Amino acid sequence: MQIIRSVSELETLVGKTLGNGKTIGLVPTMGALHEGHLSLVKRAVEENDVALVSVFVNPTQFNNPTDLATYPRDEENDFRLLAEAGATAVFAPSVEEMYPEGTKSDHVFDLGTAAEVMEGKFRPGHFQGVAQVVNRLFRLCRPTRAYFGEKDFQQIAVIRNMVKSEHIDVELIPVPIKRADDGLALSSRNALLTEEQRKIAPEIHSTLAYSVEYSKDHSVQATHDTVVEHLNAIPQLEVEYFEIVDGRTLLPVEEWSESPDIVGCITVYCGKVRLIDNIRYK
Ligand code: AMP
Repeated sequence: MQIIRSVSELETLVGKTLGNGKTIGLVPTMGALHEGHLSLVKRAVEENDVALVSVFVNPTQFNNPTDLATYPRDEENDFRLLAEAGATAVFAPSVEEMYPEGTKSDHVFDLGTAAEVMEGKFRPGHFQGVAQVVNRLFRLCRPTRAYFGEKDFQQIAVIRNMVKSEHIDVELIPVPIKRADDGLALSSRNALLTEEQRKIAPEIHSTLAYSVEYSKDHSVQATHDTVVEHLNAIPQLEVEYFEIVDGRTLLPVEEWSESPDIVGCITVYCGKVRLIDNIRYK
């Protein structure tokens, strides 16, 4: 596996690959890789001639400096896992290499209403930062396909809008959430949980899974309330938001009949660790 640190090296690989009529599958990540990331990498390896993985903790998408400072990093282990998964190359640039003109940008991406709710509301500037880095990665890597996990359900909708408004030619491939055996969605942030918190955190998924049954004979509002009340009653857990939304627009629904595509998106603090998850109702 080729380890690429510079944009010029990356451009050589990309130019050679596309020049030979071959395909590139890109998996953008922030490292501290786990089986969730690797499920995206495996798809990229299977479906493309070149599987390119980026490992870059993007400072512009963090609205909380402590979150950025404590974000887990383990480059050596990441590279080993990526090589084992069959990645062709990893692009792991420095912040200066990624943003030679500095991290500040005047460009405001048109991300639609999908970027204004949920994560957009609770993490101001987050999606502009995500759009900035993904746009830059798309321009540099010129992927045929790009792989994103459904754990970050809203992120996929926002990137879809960015690709449209920036006229980028790429196929976005959503990949299902990978979970631990006890149901907890795999996340780099799980490494920050204490042993006790790690035992409590699976309640998030089990409550959401239970709420799918509950929703069959209860209203949207009652389903929402039962999830929030149940989770908030558990010590160490605090729901930041839980919204039951149209899976296409990300806007809240009031009735189950409103849309053929309904998803519940949640963010829960487990102690100080911010965990996100979602579940499909329809
Ligand atoms: P991150 O490193 O957290 O930015 O994640 C990089 C990519 O991996 C994003 O597209 C995430 O949605 C995806 N991802 C993270 N965790 C999981 C998971 N448990 N299952 C599937 N995809 C995931």
